[in-house]
Amino acid sequence: VYSSVEGLLRNPKAFFTYGRENIVNVLQAKPNTGHVVLGNLQQLGVIGPIVTQNIDDLHRRGGADHFYEVHGHFRSASCMNCSNQVPMGDLIARLDQGEIPPLCWDCGGILKPDVVLFGDMMPADFQEASLLANICQTVPKLMVVIGSSLTVSPVNYLPLEFNRIVIINNTPTETDYRAELVIREQIGQVMGKLWEEILELNDGKSPDPLPPGFNFGIMIAYLDNEVRFLQNQKSRPSVSLDSLTKHFGLVQADIKVARSIIAHSPQAPRQPLERAILDFYLQELNRMEFEIDSLISAMGLISQEEGSRIPKLINDYYNESLRILMTYARQENVLPEIVEKMATRAFGIYNFWTSANQTLGIALPAREELDRLKKIISERGVKADLNFN
Ligand SMILES: [Zn+2]
Repeated sequence: VYSSVEGLLRNPKAFFTYGRENIVNVLQAKPNTGHVVLGNLQQLGVIGPIVTQNIDDLHRRGGADHFYEVHGHFRSASCMNCSNQVPMGDLIARLDQGEIPPLCWDCGGILKPDVVLFGDMMPADFQEASLLANICQTVPKLMVVIGSSLTVSPVNYLPLEFNRIVIINNTPTETDYRAELVIREQIGQVMGKLWEEILELNDGKSPDPLPPGFNFGIMIAYLDNEVRFLQNQKSRPSVSLDSLTKHFGLVQADIKVARSIIAHSPQAPRQPLERAILDFYLQELNRMEFEIDSLISAMGLISQEEGSRIPKLINDYYNESLRILMTYARQENVLPEIVEKMATRAFGIYNFWTSANQTLGIALPAREELDRLKKIISERGVKADLNFN
């Protein structure tokens, strides 16, 4: 009765009596540690968009500004007939005056909270989240699932669109088998510990947002994937010996270039958190180089010098960021802050590219690329700071 369109139409009194209590309870809830830490991480630029099944508005109130509420929210209600929208306060006031069901002032249709009930279509947020899920991440192709048992369709299919999945939930989920890391603990505890570690890495101080050009992670994630592929070739080769030798040579060259880009990036005035992340990346590169060397000798291969694919990676990443920006900029209903965020991101990658160019002579994108970016931004009236480093 309480969670379906059919229930609403059959017994509006039961639906709205229960609904009023439920709405008020949900709106009075306070963000918990998990919401606040996620909000902080998003403000820092450590994580990308949040996709939530919750309708409680707590991600926004926890400090996040880029999220998709794929099951809707309780901030407003809409007419089931003409889609006219009213603030939730209006709906509650009408219920309190005994108006059940509350009716639209324009057309007399029933006003329904803007949440997804059984029998409803998925909201636009779901389509957008699906579209951007794979390309709009700070670590490409990675999704972290937090506090969901992944049983409600179609949202539970979303993680399967990602190459890499991490799951934090206190009970098992049906997608655990696909995850590279499963943490089965209370979310609040895990997120609280995570934030403590971030503070510790930043000498106990709350960190400032990472610079928009801080995109070194894409190289590490990419190489990590490559090294995994080569490790798999040891037990069950899927390619010829020739192409395997070439692949090893490419990865060796990529590791060298990635290390050089990190080593040549400006150190001052980096905050301790940034230095810690860069140190971690360098350790990762050492680990990967060691593993590649061991694999080469274990498989009896002969090293072969190749050119690095990192320049192409950066190029592709930049183009992808432009594509994301244009996808957002085209849409009428997207908040200007989100477009600004995407624009800043694209500029950050452009900057990253520029600094790689200065240290390694990697070819820069054509001048028109930057002009194209600036045009999108000025058309949308975005006030992005174009002079960051
Ligand atoms: Zn209406």
